[in-house]
Amino acid sequence: MYHYMTVSELAQRIKKREVSAEETTRSFIERIEELDEKVGAYITVEKDRALKTARDIDKKLKQGCELSPLAGIPMALKDNICTENIRTTCASKTLEDFVPPYSADVYERLEKAGCITLGKTNMDEFAMGSSTESSAFKVTRNPWDDSSIPGDSSGGSAAAVAAGMAAFALGTDTGGSIRQPTALCGVVGMKPTYGRVSRYGVVAYASSLDQVGPITRDVKDCALVLNHICGHDRRDSTSMVVAAPDFQAGLEEGIRGMRIGIPSEYFGKGIEQGVRDRVTEAIGVLEDLGAECEEVSLPHTIYALSAYYIISSAEASSNMARYDGIRYGYRAKDYSDLLDMYIKTRSEGFGAEVKRRIMLGTYALSSGNYDAYYKKAQKVRTLIKADFDSVFEDYDLIVCPTSSLVVIRSGEKTNDPLQKILPNVNTVPANIAGLPALSVPCGFLGNLPVGMQFIGKPFAESTLLRAAYAYQQNTGFHKMHPQV
Ligand code: GLN
Repeated sequence: MYHYMTVSELAQRIKKREVSAEETTRSFIERIEELDEKVGAYITVEKDRALKTARDIDKKLKQGCELSPLAGIPMALKDNICTENIRTTCASKTLEDFVPPYSADVYERLEKAGCITLGKTNMDEFAMGSSTESSAFKVTRNPWDDSSIPGDSSGGSAAAVAAGMAAFALGTDTGGSIRQPTALCGVVGMKPTYGRVSRYGVVAYASSLDQVGPITRDVKDCALVLNHICGHDRRDSTSMVVAAPDFQAGLEEGIRGMRIGIPSEYFGKGIEQGVRDRVTEAIGVLEDLGAECEEVSLPHTIYALSAYYIISSAEASSNMARYDGIRYGYRAKDYSDLLDMYIKTRSEGFGAEVKRRIMLGTYALSSGNYDAYYKKAQKVRTLIKADFDSVFEDYDLIVCPTSSLVVIRSGEKTNDPLQKILPNVNTVPANIAGLPALSVPCGFLGNLPVGMQFIGKPFAESTLLRAAYAYQQNTGFHKMHPQV
């Protein structure tokens, strides 16, 4: 009965002691036990630990302690976020038995706030992939339609929230992995500005693109969770020293007079017609609410996916080098010498998608190819960033479709790497430029949800949240739930 409540609603009830943290947690655990065999959202469920933490919270509430609004709220974490004493696999055989000796900054913050960790969610192996099918352990299904994918690569987190198996979740987004699955699962997801949230303890895929962010049922919850995960962290050298406002504060101010750019390139070839239609209707709602929506151009968009693929693979090839079987992680059983051990360990430990990225990235970085690929991609990155800068001189934010495709069947695009990554065409530019972006549900195509994306200026998460909140208050898509 608590499954589909928002974090804000649950928090009220827990605070007023209408329901205990333990009861709430138990009901989510029961839901996981009932449904997760079908959905496949979790890799690890921490039942006993979750219930124990919940009882501790209840004790504190009984004693009249002043607790954070997130105290007693059951959450799920993507399995690339390090959790001390809880296995963190990155959905890879390489880290199948890895129990981190330390916690990610985001996890520390949420634990301190009193959140209950239900478990760790399924993902594409090391977050590389477009459908949560490259996990070494299981496939996650879209709760709206089990023949469809839940999106990449935080599919487990998005499916868990959509199916009422967590009140909220955290995901990571390198090229769209928070926004893409939240769009396809009909929930809200935000990738904050690069540097807003610490990456300390988050297993790196492509370090110049990765960000952690909230996956929630509605925009208010997104703001609430963001309030608790951001802030400077000296353990991440890219964490910015910027003041974090109260992201819930300006939510109700409305969008009258807000200037919104609609980039024509994000509605072009390759965008499913139904997606275009739903997002166009949603833009109509924003206009009715007083926003001034005008067509703009981001001319270098067509190069974004290619540049992303080079940069992310280059960084991935470097980040994956640490999994050599020496200090931790999987090590092959039989080998003749050191080189043989490296080769066997990495061949057996990594799946096909990760190997593809390592090879591609190594190729792009090799001395003969560096200028032609990596350096060129970095130059394109600058041009893409400049496109955004110029639009943001006149506009407060940008609105467009999140995923270019909605109907993607399980197993459908597993053999064609280009086809697989195409649905990310509208999500990668925000990572390339380091900008905050958010996806909200804006309708359906058949039985599958469609997502609308808001992209903002650096550190303007509040503006995105305000616009998305205004939209949501005037529509009901975020209140619809799948029949799992
Ligand atoms: N699908 C994209 C990729 O495979 C994005 C993944 C992500 O954001 N982690 O790289």
